[in-house]
Amino acid sequence: MRRFQAIGTNLGFRCDVCGAQVPPLATGSYRNHCPRCLHSRHVDVFPGDRANPCEGLLEPVAGEHSGKKGWTIVHRCQRCGEERRNRAALDDPVMPDDYELLVQLASRAAPSDAPDERRAGDRARRRGRRSGGTKGGGR
Ligand SMILES: [Zn+2]
Ligand SMILES: [Zn+2]
Repeated sequence: MRRFQAIGTNLGFRCDVCGAQVPPLATGSYRNHCPRCLHSRHVDVFPGDRANPCEGLLEPVAGEHSGKKGWTIVHRCQRCGEERRNRAALDDPVMPDDYELLVQLASRAAPSDAPDERRAGDRARRRGRRSGGTKGGGR
């Protein structure tokens, strides 16, 4: 009388975003994001439990690297706005996470590297129109 497959089974899935057929991790740990585009779905409360009714698209917004833990992907849900961190699977022999994409994310997150246009515009507006003419360079 099982209505669902055993919870937490380590199955592959098909990515809704880029269409990649994603195999399960060779290590047997649960894979919760697409290695090709790094997107995920907000379906888990805890990894693999599928207990979250949100089902929003988890967009990779940043990459973080720490010496101990290695690479982490920061996902933000486009529906409910929750942010969560997921360990990147760069060492998977079958289909590892896209390292270059991860590095891109990490550099995009650095504020000095990519100015957030929206925020810069906000600040300029608040400061008055005098600076409006100059292109918001600098930082
Ligand atoms: Zn994908
Ligand atoms: Zn969500």
